[in-house]
Amino acid sequence: MSVAASQYQNFVGGEWVDGVDGESQEVLNPATGETIAHVPRGSQADVDRAVEAAKQALPDWLETTPQERSEMLLKLAEAIDANSEELARVESENVGKPLPAAQDEPPVCADNLRFFAGAARVLEGRAAGEYMRGYTSMIRREPLGVVGQIAPWNYPLMMAVWKIAPALAAGNVTVLKPSEQTPLTTLMMAQYAAEIFPAGVLNVITGDGEPVGAGIVRHPDVRLVSLTGDVATGKEIARTAAETLKRVHLELGGKAPVVVFDDADPEAVAEGIKIAGYWNSGQDCTAASRVVAGPKIYDTLLEALVPAVESLNVGDPAEGEEIEMGPVISKAQQDRVFGFLERATSNGRAKVLTGGDSNGDRGFFVKPAVVTEVDQTDEIVQREVFGPVVTVQRFADDDEAIAWANDVSYGLAASVWTRDVGRALNAARKLQFGTVWINDHTPLVSEMPHGGYKQSGYGKDLSMYALEDYTQVKHVMAKID
Ligand code: NAD
Repeated sequence: MSVAASQYQNFVGGEWVDGVDGESQEVLNPATGETIAHVPRGSQADVDRAVEAAKQALPDWLETTPQERSEMLLKLAEAIDANSEELARVESENVGKPLPAAQDEPPVCADNLRFFAGAARVLEGRAAGEYMRGYTSMIRREPLGVVGQIAPWNYPLMMAVWKIAPALAAGNVTVLKPSEQTPLTTLMMAQYAAEIFPAGVLNVITGDGEPVGAGIVRHPDVRLVSLTGDVATGKEIARTAAETLKRVHLELGGKAPVVVFDDADPEAVAEGIKIAGYWNSGQDCTAASRVVAGPKIYDTLLEALVPAVESLNVGDPAEGEEIEMGPVISKAQQDRVFGFLERATSNGRAKVLTGGDSNGDRGFFVKPAVVTEVDQTDEIVQREVFGPVVTVQRFADDDEAIAWANDVSYGLAASVWTRDVGRALNAARKLQFGTVWINDHTPLVSEMPHGGYKQSGYGKDLSMYALEDYTQVKHVMAKID
């Protein structure tokens, strides 16, 4: 354990405070297993205190104009730009991301804040007019009040920004809980926010899903809870939220198919999968985890894919910028990925063509794996592994490709690879996923929505749709004669 491991506090009502119970928990570097920080292990009392601080801040915050909120979000974007190197370094150390990958994220966060800073000023009520003789009606889009926001560990700062930016832009106040495993950059962002936003508008409390996350969901004064996390967590939150009929906004897991038709360019597809299947060690809700390839391209694709995956430089990101893939987040996650691979191969049919083992004793590594000879009903095809594992299946015809792609309970993202425009657009129409890429896999932009179909959840991140999700619609009707 590093003696220099710093002790962080919660950010509540504009102040840095210890947890009410005074307990703390360790934050690890997954590449070494060493402790790099301590944060408060929160309790229901911390949730209550943070919600109270948010409620206190709400009346004045409701008086702010979109322009004023916009200016503050722009200042936060500037602060993220100014601290981007330090944010990337900490994210790399806490999540185990290669430094160049971590360096990509702060600019995306700043852009997202700038988008919502602009969006705050153009939010529309759809209509105003006389719909009954003698009366004028208008639509107001209003904030919900106190919202609760719960983030996962794979893109800690980015997920925190995706949540707070639309919530604050729309005029809400928020209580944000980062993942207990990766809270550091969210707390750093709160340090910048402390200089910009009025006390209590943004509160950050750390701790486990139960009691802190669940405490936010149970709290009667929280009007909406947004989660980015596992499907099981989403279901639990939706059940608990039903008790107080609060809104839920759920960005959950995925099992993204990569539909490769015979006329695609195998080298380009292999390169695309090498990136999108193993980025962030495959711990990405849109990871290109499930390739379904046409009968003629299947062999050629594997011939290009396996060496491409084997060429990935796996190691501790601290070793240098040439590291392309780090560890998974924890020992539990490493064991989980190994468990999927063991169960997949235990039938004697499925084959791990490369990878799937650890990388020595230090840190929580899984070498990038390619698995073939899998059936559509196999667990490894049906369930999100959330690790560096890609399955490859061979389909017989276009109908089977689409049927297999859709035949999972998730519906977050998919990609189609073909040179035939009609085939691509037809597939995009039939795929039951919230995002469909054509001849690529993963790019997202602030202007376009990101969110699931089916059990990948409901509600959108990014775009005007996210801003609207953090509002409620009011009809005002005036008697005019
Ligand atoms: P997780 O569901 O275990 O945890 C997510 C957050 O929920 C954490 O902060 C955790 O403390 C909290 N939590 C856990 N149990 C809770 C409960 N009962 N009540 C309230 N909060 C609770 O997920 P994770 O392991 O941190 O993240 C991985 C998952 O997130 C994957 O399934 C991944 O696909 C998903 N994810 C989705 C998106 C998306 O945009 N759809 C983006 C990133 C990650």
